[in-house]
Amino acid sequence: MSFAQVHLDVPLQGPFDYRAGPHQVVRGSIVVVPFRNKKLVGIVDCVSDVSLVESRRLKQIESVFDLDPLPPSYFSLCRFVSQYYCARMGQALFLGLPTAVRRIDFLNRLTETVFTLSDRGIQEVPAHLTARTIGKRRLFDLLLAEGAITLRQALLVYSNARVALAQWHAEGWTNTLEQRQNVVSLKAPMTRLEEGEIKRINLTTPQRLAVETIVAKLDVHQTWLLQGVTGSGKTEVYFEVMAKTLDLNRQVLVLVPEINLTPQLESRLRKRFPDHEIVTLNSSMTDKERYKAWSVARSGSASIVLGTRLSVFASLPQLGLIVVDEEHDLSYKQVEGVRYNARDLAIYVASQQKVPIVLGSATPSLETYFNVVESRYKRLVLEERPQGPLPDIELIPIERTQSRAISSEIINAMQGCLDKSEQVLVFLNRRGYASALFCSSCNWVAMCGGCSARLTIHHHSSRLRCHYCGYQSKVPDQCAECGNQDLIDLGQGTQRVEESLRTQFPNASIMRIDSDTTKRKGAFKEMRGVIENSDVDIIVGTQMLAKGHDFPNLSLAVIMGTDQSLFSSDFRATERLYQQLLQVSGRPGRGKKKGRVMLQTEFSQHPVYQSLIHQTFDEFAQQLLTERKEAAFPPYCYQVLLRVAGRQEAKVWTFLTRVQKDAVRIKVSGIEVYDAVPSPIFKMAGLYRGQILIQAGSRKSMREFLRIWSGCIEELQESAVRYVLDVDPLDV
Ligand SMILES: [Zn+2]
Ligand SMILES: [Zn+2]
Repeated sequence: MSFAQVHLDVPLQGPFDYRAGPHQVVRGSIVVVPFRNKKLVGIVDCVSDVSLVESRRLKQIESVFDLDPLPPSYFSLCRFVSQYYCARMGQALFLGLPTAVRRIDFLNRLTETVFTLSDRGIQEVPAHLTARTIGKRRLFDLLLAEGAITLRQALLVYSNARVALAQWHAEGWTNTLEQRQNVVSLKAPMTRLEEGEIKRINLTTPQRLAVETIVAKLDVHQTWLLQGVTGSGKTEVYFEVMAKTLDLNRQVLVLVPEINLTPQLESRLRKRFPDHEIVTLNSSMTDKERYKAWSVARSGSASIVLGTRLSVFASLPQLGLIVVDEEHDLSYKQVEGVRYNARDLAIYVASQQKVPIVLGSATPSLETYFNVVESRYKRLVLEERPQGPLPDIELIPIERTQSRAISSEIINAMQGCLDKSEQVLVFLNRRGYASALFCSSCNWVAMCGGCSARLTIHHHSSRLRCHYCGYQSKVPDQCAECGNQDLIDLGQGTQRVEESLRTQFPNASIMRIDSDTTKRKGAFKEMRGVIENSDVDIIVGTQMLAKGHDFPNLSLAVIMGTDQSLFSSDFRATERLYQQLLQVSGRPGRGKKKGRVMLQTEFSQHPVYQSLIHQTFDEFAQQLLTERKEAAFPPYCYQVLLRVAGRQEAKVWTFLTRVQKDAVRIKVSGIEVYDAVPSPIFKMAGLYRGQILIQAGSRKSMREFLRIWSGCIEELQESAVRYVLDVDPLDV
């Protein structure tokens, strides 16, 4: 009799033993098993002839999915995730599976109707098909040519295909059958590409050097940092290296930080590699779409897999290269559940599969930069920017009392652009109208009841909103404490800036882009089109706009509201500010026009701004590294943050105090255990939150410590609190 050890996505340490029964299972098989009173999808870890559990007490596997088993490389990646990020193996294994495969009715959901010609249809042509029924004719020809087609394919050639197919079926020209979704052919028909011919770009000397250096080492694992300012042509370097990799019949995995960046890169990829199958993987896809993309990737038939952080789990049997664009981007870090960092996992995958990985950025994360300094990664620099150097940032001082207004110098510069029909970007990383509602007589501030956070005023709806939990209420007429009716709104968000710009420039067309205006699917894409077509003069936007977009008619970028970063308690605040400023600076002047960047500040003499605008990235990074070394912050140490949350404040504290005591008692050298403290936002959505920071001088001692401590935490665990161990946290 054979037994299988099966991992399940349940909050218990697996694996669980099952009898294989009549089923042929191997490591990596995906199965359905009974668990307690339910049926669950499980992943077989190993199969053996013995079980430590008495055989009669074991349940039997119910069914096996008709899928190729998950490959060994997937298990080793998940093993790494489970050890490094303190997750259960079951949790890690399910993390990378498309939702469709995690459901027990997986197969039923993935069938689709396929149309084929009947014998009669193959032998003769229906009489009603004449020279005038062009659409029907095209549909019939497609059936003849392809043998079998889906409704979706049919609709591409004939908009009324549904009716025609039903009629032919009734008349016996066609057959229909339910078949498992065809996962192999996903190639978009050529007509749907934007008819653009493949542009061969002449590489600049630094680009060519970078390509040659990487291509010379396609057969070994090496982590490359491709550092180049916005517009220096990193993408062309990726494309050339990818082309060489594809020539060797190997697959390429391309990771991008955000969904919004994918469509642009995807269409460029399709134009550059029209003969290759390209699949995208991201969380906005439907279950079916993701399942298809996942299958095509693991079948090896997709040449290029383009996706956001989750796609690092895609199994590519012929993997030859990984590209991580904007490697410093925070969205590579998962902030719920298993808090993995996709960039770091990509480096692990590349090292396991002995393939090169290219990390691209204008402002590499300090961790990556440190690895270059320590010679673990090799750096290639693209200094030249084909369109000329990046514009300097001009600091525009503004008085504290007028901080709501926009400086007259900026207004004049904006007017100058509008006069020349050029576009202006006003960047402000805060949505809403004003950031707080404040009572001038008793200092009361409108707070969210569920979070320890101020409510933001949203003007158009005249409502107060919490940006953490989504709570909303009407703007009150008077102070809740003293009844004073003179309430003041403080700080400015994108809505207020938009409003004041409409007064300043009544004839300009103004568009606001933030998560409030882009909620609807596809809205962002439309707005981008409007900007590209120069149908708008002034764009007011948040972070969303700072990254990776090419707006050729944009010549001025105005930056506001960055002053608060100067006084942040987060030791990474300056690094992020620099990244943000450099990204925004890269936006204007990408076409033929020279760009200009103006930053409005109350603290133009602040040393951070002075070094930001006068230093090169390298000088800046060196200086930050020195500071971090002195303060013993990452990358000179390793951090883990235990985050705890619960509805009862007292229980959260009791738990934190007890696990903190346990931590102090653990005898591993080089470990520093900090006190339990409230999280920066102590109460969020009704949950009280606290944390304990652990620092270690080496990964080895951290691992040893975590092995013991995570056991202690698990023992103390009670239902009133939830906790997560955040390894290498990006906000502490
Ligand atoms: Zn008051
Ligand atoms: Zn809230």
